Amino acid sequence: MQNIINEIPSTSPDATPTATVSADGTTVTITIPVPTGTPTQTPTICPPTPTNTPTPTPISTPEISEYNVEFTENWPSAQKSAAVSAIIAVGEKLASISGGSAAQAFRNAYQGKQGLPTMFLWGAGGYTGGYNIGECQGDDVGGCTVGQSGSVYLIVFFSFLSTDSQWRMNNVVHELGHLFNDLHGGYPMSFAGNYAAQRKELLRPQEGTTVWQMHAIYDPNTPSITNPEMFADMYVAWTYDAWNRDPLNEDLVKNATTQMDAKMSEWVH
Ligand SMILES: [Zn+2]
Repeated sequence: MQNIINEIPSTSPDATPTATVSADGTTVTITIPVPTGTPTQTPTICPPTPTNTPTPTPISTPEISEYNVEFTENWPSAQKSAAVSAIIAVGEKLASISGGSAAQAFRNAYQGKQGLPTMFLWGAGGYTGGYNIGECQGDDVGGCTVGQSGSVYLIVFFSFLSTDSQWRMNNVVHELGHLFNDLHGGYPMSFAGNYAAQRKELLRPQEGTTVWQMHAIYDPNTPSITNPEMFADMYVAWTYDAWNRDPLNEDLVKNATTQMDAKMSEWVH
């Protein structure tokens, strides 16, 4: 089964990314190039300076190839940094129930029996990287999960609709929720459907610029849309342990999280 879901913009338009050079739990090394211009005065008594010019080290992206994920080359660095952080967060959460490393847990959940990579395609400006993006064709905002496309599992992002880093990570985790549902037979969305009518009580409302529900649709007449969106947003809440905080909803949240932990454990084992 494939979910072709376009995330609706709910906050401000994308803006020029700020120069974020680190992601959660990762180290980014920057070497500042040393100026090599010719001095205006030539000293005659100083020892000669070395002639080899240091080579600037490019800003490195965190090494996540162990997760069996790939990115098209045109990802803007700040956006890619958010995506990488989200992937690591999902891996760590999965590892908390399956054991092993975050990368192992992520691969176990996402690469399927064929060991296919998850490809993150930056589709701004109509770029497809040669992939068939199916019904995501024609979208131009937010993210869209294609599912299997050739020899990859494909998720397309056309833009991030906010500069809020948590918002961006939530968008990525949400799409990973759709893909998880696809890869686990649609059982996750059936489970989430049990809670869809209580979406507002169970999930977290927007806080400041951070949106926790990426596609807050509820229509009991269209469970084929309502249920996968509910699971994808529950996946965000589960990953970041970011559920509704209202004390009135405490019992509901406790019940849902207990059930979801049990189901997730079942699905990844
Ligand atoms: Zn969605």
